Amino acid sequence: MKYVSTRADGASLQPIGFLDAVLAGLAPDGGLYVPETWPSFTPEEIAAFAGRPYAEVAAAVLGRFADGEIADDLLLEMCTEAYASFAHSATCPVTQLAPGLFMAELFHGPTLAFKDVAMQLLARLYDHILGARGRTLTIVCATSGDTGGAAVEAFRGRSNVRICAMFPEGRISDVQRRFMTTVEDANVACLSLQGSFDDCQAILKAMFADGQFVRAVDLSAVNSINFARIAAQAVYYFTTAVALGAPHRPVAFAVPTGNFGDAFAGYVAHRMGLPIEKILVATNANDIMARAFEDGRYSRGNVAATQSPAMDIQVASNFERLYFECVRRDGVETGRAFRAFGETGVIDIPPVARAAMAELFGGASTGEDDTARAMLATLNETGRLIDPHTAVAVSAARRATLDHETTPLIVLSTAHPAKFPEAVSAATGVTPTFPRGDRGLGDKAERFDRLPADAATVMEYVRGFAAR
Ligand SMILES: *Cc1c(COP(=O)(O)O)cnc(C)c1O
Repeated sequence: MKYVSTRADGASLQPIGFLDAVLAGLAPDGGLYVPETWPSFTPEEIAAFAGRPYAEVAAAVLGRFADGEIADDLLLEMCTEAYASFAHSATCPVTQLAPGLFMAELFHGPTLAFKDVAMQLLARLYDHILGARGRTLTIVCATSGDTGGAAVEAFRGRSNVRICAMFPEGRISDVQRRFMTTVEDANVACLSLQGSFDDCQAILKAMFADGQFVRAVDLSAVNSINFARIAAQAVYYFTTAVALGAPHRPVAFAVPTGNFGDAFAGYVAHRMGLPIEKILVATNANDIMARAFEDGRYSRGNVAATQSPAMDIQVASNFERLYFECVRRDGVETGRAFRAFGETGVIDIPPVARAAMAELFGGASTGEDDTARAMLATLNETGRLIDPHTAVAVSAARRATLDHETTPLIVLSTAHPAKFPEAVSAATGVTPTFPRGDRGLGDKAERFDRLPADAATVMEYVRGFAAR
């Protein structure tokens, strides 16, 4: 299985293998890597996932993408180890909220957000690849709050990787920040940038655009531009769908969306043969994705700070992957559209592509009041606290006009409520507690540096970090 850039024009770039695509992150032409063809499972193979341990399904799905570049037993070992770090024996259990409405709990990992699902596996993939090649890398990670914590937790203390997490100052919760800044390992650096998440992500892209810099620090990325993360996230679409009767009946998902990585993983599961009828892309007030599906115009707005900060994003990197698919894998067109977007902040989605997107995706945005109401209503009706990101999707799910009798609708619950105590207690009057103690997060000293959101300044900092 080879991987190609979404901006490949036929001549410019050689397709690369899975391991190279994992380490590379962004392609040198600015595009994102996708597999040359989508692997798939037969309905019988999907049905056989029922009742199997999560790690086994993960190894089966990842195996299709690694395609022999990692031995099957080694892959299974990595998956088993990665998901042993989860506090629930089912890894990502499914619970019921209402008739026909379910919730996949993706937050039982060490940093209480779904980012752990992919990151725990990714760290083991890196360890394996770098060990085999005798290389070290510098991972720079732009985070809207949860990716940074999950990445720092997964990569801290590893000898062949340094990791620098950049987060937007004042735009993430205290708990999110402390998961990154209280870590003492010398291979971790945290940067508080005076800007938005989109600024952080733009700086990361600027770093990748500078080939000399990429080579000087051995730059790598673990944001959801990294295809291995998407592949790892496709797994829980399979396990939850199968738990609710797939492939014998279709299912639908409501996905709290920021960078469109999680929702795109659903697209991948669908392409691999999982009968998904609809993916509801649920956004907060930063509704670029919801608008794109509604009116065919992908257009950047200003980032508004909300109680679901991990989704305070106006440039959804992974949309480029979907666009590429929906313009029939025309890399020239995709490159043109997304380079122009960099200048104008607008893409008018061609009608044919828009129709292709509408077959699977629908958009719904939820304002602050309705998000709070969804938290309160869920507590009143089910006795459960949910976090504000999950609440955005619950609200969208409740407004959806799907037939729940035939098609169960599954909300992806992306974070534990204890990660956002202020928002949860403001909405419900109940302060959520950590499921396994707070690891002394509140007492430990924090360690981070502050910089302006300026690419050259941050690159200088990363050079210094990489040279340490
Ligand atoms: C990252 C994150 C999201 C958004 O996921 P994307 O893959 O960026 O769309 C939603 N909820 C939480 C809690 C997150 O950490």
